[in-house]
Amino acid sequence: MKTTQASSNPYPHTDSNKRYYTYDYYMKKTFGGKCAKIPLDAGFTCPNIDGRCGTGGCIYCSSGSAAHRETAPLPLREQYRLHREQLSQKWSVERCIPYFQAHTNTYAPVSTVKTICEEAAAYKGAVALSLATRADCLEDEKLLYFDGLSRRIPVVLELGLQSASDETARRINRGHDFAAFADAVARIRRLSPKVQICIHVINGLPGEGREDMLETARRVAALRPDQVKIHLMHVLRDTPLGRMYEEGKYTPMTREEYVSVTVDQLELLPPDTVIGRLTGDGLSDELLAPDWSRKKTVVLNEIDKELYRRGTYQGIRYTP
Ligand code: SF4
Repeated sequence: MKTTQASSNPYPHTDSNKRYYTYDYYMKKTFGGKCAKIPLDAGFTCPNIDGRCGTGGCIYCSSGSAAHRETAPLPLREQYRLHREQLSQKWSVERCIPYFQAHTNTYAPVSTVKTICEEAAAYKGAVALSLATRADCLEDEKLLYFDGLSRRIPVVLELGLQSASDETARRINRGHDFAAFADAVARIRRLSPKVQICIHVINGLPGEGREDMLETARRVAALRPDQVKIHLMHVLRDTPLGRMYEEGKYTPMTREEYVSVTVDQLELLPPDTVIGRLTGDGLSDELLAPDWSRKKTVVLNEIDKELYRRGTYQGIRYTP
C-alpha cells in the first residue's frame, strides 16, 4: 500500500493528515458530525471599555469604534434564525452551537446570563452553547449556574488570555494579570467541572518575542484546557494598535514567523487539547495588516507542512 501523509501520521487524535486535534475531528467524535457555530451578540459591553476595570479596551480591540456602536443588535432569536438560514445555503445546520461572541458575555447579573442561555439552549438544532468572556467576569454564582446548565447541554467558556506575560498584559491594556486568569480557571474546574474551558492566545502581540509566545503556550498547557484558540495579531483600523502600526511603532509577524512559532506551540500543548483555531479570519475591511493573513487556507497548509517536515505533532514536547 502506498504511504501517504495520512497513513504515516503518528498523531493519535486524527483521521486525516492533520497532526493536531482539529475542531472538526472533535465535532465528529462528540456530536457525530460538523456543527454550525452561530455567532450571537447579546448586547453586552466589556468592563475594559466601560470603565469598571479600564477604558479604551485592549489596544487591538475595535469594539469601541463608532462602527460597532451605532447599531443595536437584533433580538437573539432573530440573529440565530438569520445566521442559520444563511449557513444552510452552504452546509447542514442540523446541529448548531449558539456562540455568544461579541464583547464579554457574562458581564451582567446572573439573571441576565441565565435568560440568554436558557433561550439559546432551547433553539432548534442547538447541541451545545459557547460563551466568550473574561476571567474577571466569572463570579461564583455564575459558575454555579453554568454547572447546572452544563449537566443539560455541553457548555464552553471561551476565555481570552492572549499572553501569560503580565508585562505584555499591561502593554496591551488587558486589565487583568495571569494570576487572575489562573484563578478563574481553577474556580471553573471546582464549581462547574463539566464546563469546558477554551483559552484564546494571540501571537505577535506588541513587544513580544518568540520566547514569550512559547512561555504562554507552556503556561496554557499547564492549565490543561479542553480547547485552545491560537490567533494571529491582526492590526485593525481605528484602534490604538492600528495607530502604532501607521506610525511605524509596531511590526506584524511574517507568515514564516507565525507558522514556525505556532508549530512550536502545538508541540508544547497537551495532545488531547482541541485546537479550536489556528488563524483568525482576517477578511475584515478593517484589517490593516498583515495582508498575508487573508489567505487562511495557505496559513493552515503551511502549518501542516511544517509539522510534517519536522516529523512532529501536537503534544510531542508536552510535559505534564
Ligand atoms: S476584553 Fe475583548 S471586548 Fe473587551 S476590550 Fe478586550 S478585546 Fe475588546
